[in-house]
Amino acid sequence: SNICIVVGTRPEAIKMAPVYFALQKSESLRPVLLSTGQHREMLDQALASFSLAPDHDLNLMQPGQTLADITSRVISRVHEYLVESRPAAVLVQGDTTTVFATSLAAFYAGIPVGHVEAGLRTHNPLNPWPEEMNRRLVAPIAQWHFCPTPPSRAHLVAERIDEAKCFVTGNTVVDALLWIRGKLQDAAIDASDVARRVGISEAFAGQFLDDDDSRWILVTGHRRESHGPGFVKMCEGILRVVTEHPDVGILFPVHLNPRVREPVMQLLGDHDRIELIEPAGYQDFVWLMDRCTFLLSDSGGVQEEAPSLGKPVLVTRETTERPEGIVAGTCRLVGTDPDRIFAESDLLLRDAGEFTRRSGLENPYGDGFAAEQIRQILERSFRGG
Ligand code: UDP
Repeated sequence: SNICIVVGTRPEAIKMAPVYFALQKSESLRPVLLSTGQHREMLDQALASFSLAPDHDLNLMQPGQTLADITSRVISRVHEYLVESRPAAVLVQGDTTTVFATSLAAFYAGIPVGHVEAGLRTHNPLNPWPEEMNRRLVAPIAQWHFCPTPPSRAHLVAERIDEAKCFVTGNTVVDALLWIRGKLQDAAIDASDVARRVGISEAFAGQFLDDDDSRWILVTGHRRESHGPGFVKMCEGILRVVTEHPDVGILFPVHLNPRVREPVMQLLGDHDRIELIEPAGYQDFVWLMDRCTFLLSDSGGVQEEAPSLGKPVLVTRETTERPEGIVAGTCRLVGTDPDRIFAESDLLLRDAGEFTRRSGLENPYGDGFAAEQIRQILERSFRGG
């Protein structure tokens, strides 16, 4: 039976790649990769990191698209594709517009949906917007809920989703991370190769990447909730960190969204210890995460990956649907207030004991076998077991 795996953005590609590979090994199921192209360039870059290309690409992204535009295009085009190709099931991952609109299209086509990374909740329907609503709306549609942790499963059960359909598998991002890290170790990647590929200047690479004793912070940011004043404040916090710590560098692969790029380029574009680069391929980004001192990020995936690499994360949000990393101590919510970003960074840079306490290697999000479990659950379902 064909299992249609749908991806639209970078994190979906990274988190679905292990599922694709696990299904490739199945004797009874066959993966078919469908791209909506919701975020064109970063999606393709992430797929390329796994040497994956979509079997079918709807290429739906349009300049200046609104959520309503992309939702309606995904519903009608994915529906058309599903009605023609009739896969046995559709798998979606996470909480993007692609996920919600695809689930509804599959429902209309009478094809069962499996939701990978199900049950994450902030319990505030407006935050993050629109992701919390997307993930909530998938829940009543999905037939299989692949929850990363026991608390995420408990959220679904509390919403009266049938317990027999809710499975704790771990998060597939840990599978992806460990797989890529294994490849990096085998290939003994050189710092200068990574620097050249991701566009890091020789000066920054010489001062930070080539020196094992140097300290530098890896930064990412993209969330809508920080568009506008949030990113401006975050940049002010970063400037204060580099001003008060003259040995510390910042490496920041800047998201392609203009709402992120404009303030970041304007405020951080002209400092010799702040290196702004284009989004990095996943393999290079994992290499960088493995070597940075710590991360400052609003990314969901980064919060889930960092514990496996022993890297603390300061999360530039007021809320998170991923409390497990906070409880484990690796992640801490710092919002976008410049004073708070400075104070929390300063603490990690000055206090070695605090740093060590927050760089534990126990990952609450999984053990690297999530995709394998998803494959087994699907195989059992299609055998009627
Ligand atoms: N990532 C990447 N290149 C980068 C920045 C991030 O490959 O330059 C990876 C990161 O390791 C994580 C994912 O992209 O797995 C996170 O994507 P994003 O922050 O866009 O989305 P979120 O995780 O918040 O859904």
